Amino acid sequence: MSDVLPQDEVVRICQELIRIDTSNYGDGSGPGERVAAEYVAGLIEEVGLPAEIFESAPGRANVITRMAGSDPSASALVVHGHLDVVPALRDQWSVDPFGAELKDGLIWGRGAVDMKDMDAMILSVLRSFARTGTKPKRDIIFAFFADEEAGGEYGARYAVDKRPELFEGATEAISEVGGFSATIGGQRTYLLQTAEKGISWLRLVAHGRAGHGSQINTDNAVTRLAAAVTRIGEYKWPIELTPTTRQFLDGVTELTGVEFDADNPDLLLDQLGTVARFVGATLQNTTNPTLLKGGYKHNVIPESAEALVDCRTLPGQQDQVLEIVRDLAGAGVDVSYVHQDVSLEVPFAGNLVDSMIDALHSEDPGAKVLPYTLSGGTDNKSLSRLGITGYGFAPLMLPEDLDFTGMFHGVDERVPADSLKFGARVLNTLLTNY
Ligand SMILES: [Zn+2]
Repeated sequence: MSDVLPQDEVVRICQELIRIDTSNYGDGSGPGERVAAEYVAGLIEEVGLPAEIFESAPGRANVITRMAGSDPSASALVVHGHLDVVPALRDQWSVDPFGAELKDGLIWGRGAVDMKDMDAMILSVLRSFARTGTKPKRDIIFAFFADEEAGGEYGARYAVDKRPELFEGATEAISEVGGFSATIGGQRTYLLQTAEKGISWLRLVAHGRAGHGSQINTDNAVTRLAAAVTRIGEYKWPIELTPTTRQFLDGVTELTGVEFDADNPDLLLDQLGTVARFVGATLQNTTNPTLLKGGYKHNVIPESAEALVDCRTLPGQQDQVLEIVRDLAGAGVDVSYVHQDVSLEVPFAGNLVDSMIDALHSEDPGAKVLPYTLSGGTDNKSLSRLGITGYGFAPLMLPEDLDFTGMFHGVDERVPADSLKFGARVLNTLLTNY
């Protein structure tokens, strides 16, 4: 039993997790994470570690366990994953999205890359530590959260707000959407996530004078809203390079010989293949109108009309973006937050970053590692409320032809079994050495 290595069981654990449907519809109607949490707690307890399950609401379960390190003066590290997945429409898939079939060397199923793959890596490493009596240097807090796919209100955010003592002494964290490889200029390059854009979900409410649809009305809320939405949706946000993005683009220039041209970003983005999808949206703020609502009868002018706008802001620009959106919306349109979450950005430097790079090099010597900004968000936003610095590091060495960035929330989500084994070995090295 003691010679079971992380790479020996990571595939099986990933498959078993995928087979537990944890679809998160964002409205509480899904199956929740309880069954998956019990499965995870079972794996932890099986190797003699205590696991605590705590619920934020019935069925919305989180799991946590803390492994003591050998150096009590060292700060603790949080290694976390989320247990929920976005829904999958069975008839669009070529396989059962919850079947976790192993086909052509890949595991197919919802969560294969987001993020039951990393959950399985974490579990296989912690089980190996427990079995072999390996003691990490620092305390490691292993956490498996609910509800990441709906902003973490029932998961990481709940844990941080209601159970902050669980993260006592922690200063850093690692989790999803980073550490994967892409081939840039013919060179395998790992993208380590050191920044996340902020989220501002805004509601626009335009007001006007209600009246009969047959009359002249120069104060029509629907017209006002439509104009505001058009101005916001068509606004050309300037290209702005944050320190992280500049460092990433400089690295790409070094690998490809192609310089970044702000007037023609595609020149360089074209060098990135499918990773361009991740990077393109991090060169600027974005403000996308996503929903319109107004009126109740064909011949009645309503007194108000409403729109939702999904804004993703560059690090540190949340207030500034709100101000510009308010200007664009104009008079007679109220702009307010429905939901907001912080942006993050930390230097691509320090002991943990060095250790992550070293761990990658232990399995893939000579590979290039670059920092990048994530256009979406992760549970690291919630952990940042406790002053914990988070990185995206779910290591995967990927075949060049796999459209990895398209797998996130995509149809036929899948991950190579060998990539998972690679990731388990890298994570094992990192947590052993750091
Ligand atoms: Zn995720």
